[in-house]
Amino acid sequence: METGPLEDTRFVGYRRKLIEDIRAHGIEDLELLQLFDRVPRHLFVPEGIWPRAYEDAPLPIGYSQTASQPSLQAYYLTLLRPRSDEKVLEIGTGSGYLTALLALTADRVYSVERVRELSQRARKALDLLSLRNVALLVGDGTIGWRKYAPFDVIVVSAASPSIPPALVDQLADGGRMLIPVGALDSQELVLVRKEGFIVTEEVVKGDCTFVPLLGRFAWKSEAGA
Ligand code: SAH
Repeated sequence: METGPLEDTRFVGYRRKLIEDIRAHGIEDLELLQLFDRVPRHLFVPEGIWPRAYEDAPLPIGYSQTASQPSLQAYYLTLLRPRSDEKVLEIGTGSGYLTALLALTADRVYSVERVRELSQRARKALDLLSLRNVALLVGDGTIGWRKYAPFDVIVVSAASPSIPPALVDQLADGGRMLIPVGALDSQELVLVRKEGFIVTEEVVKGDCTFVPLLGRFAWKSEAGA
């Protein structure tokens, strides 16, 4: 990945600080922390909020959506551990920042976003970083992306009232999925694992607040943004 000409020295220090903030959340894996040094987050958020791009905080990205907090994304990566020969499905491309982090760890990333403009903006940022192992789709991610199933890892970045069955179907044997499940205002993060015919669910974190997953097998559009 060539970031040289894109690198803006103003941001290097902020990025190191962000990595310290992520470490403060108990994430010590060096390889994982280095990923955050390789993806310039400011390229994934609107220019108006560049001064805040390296805060360990959710950021507004327009269309009533938010980019998730980096330390939470680091936690996702810690739990899911995508390997370099694995296929990942992401539901809710949003800014594309997590998409980029996933693209640096997995073989291929398939990412679905319902807001066309966000998908297009994410594509531009991913192209700037020459991340070519990412396929983006505009559509309803609650039905997954059957054409490329099964997936070793599924990451859902928006909150659902329940686990969409198509996503469990599209999980490979040995696959893992993270999805926030619960009410519109508060959810638990659930880790789903598939081993043969056995599917297990484990709550790994409580008290999360994600934007709603809007679609056929989640909240209907009038429920949220
Ligand atoms: N990881 C992203 C999170 C973005 S917020 C980031 O850090 O930027 C979640 C995203 O899910 C929003 O962009 C929202 O538009 C999208 N979304 C909501 N429901 C969806 C659905 N059914 N299919 C695909 N994307 C959806």
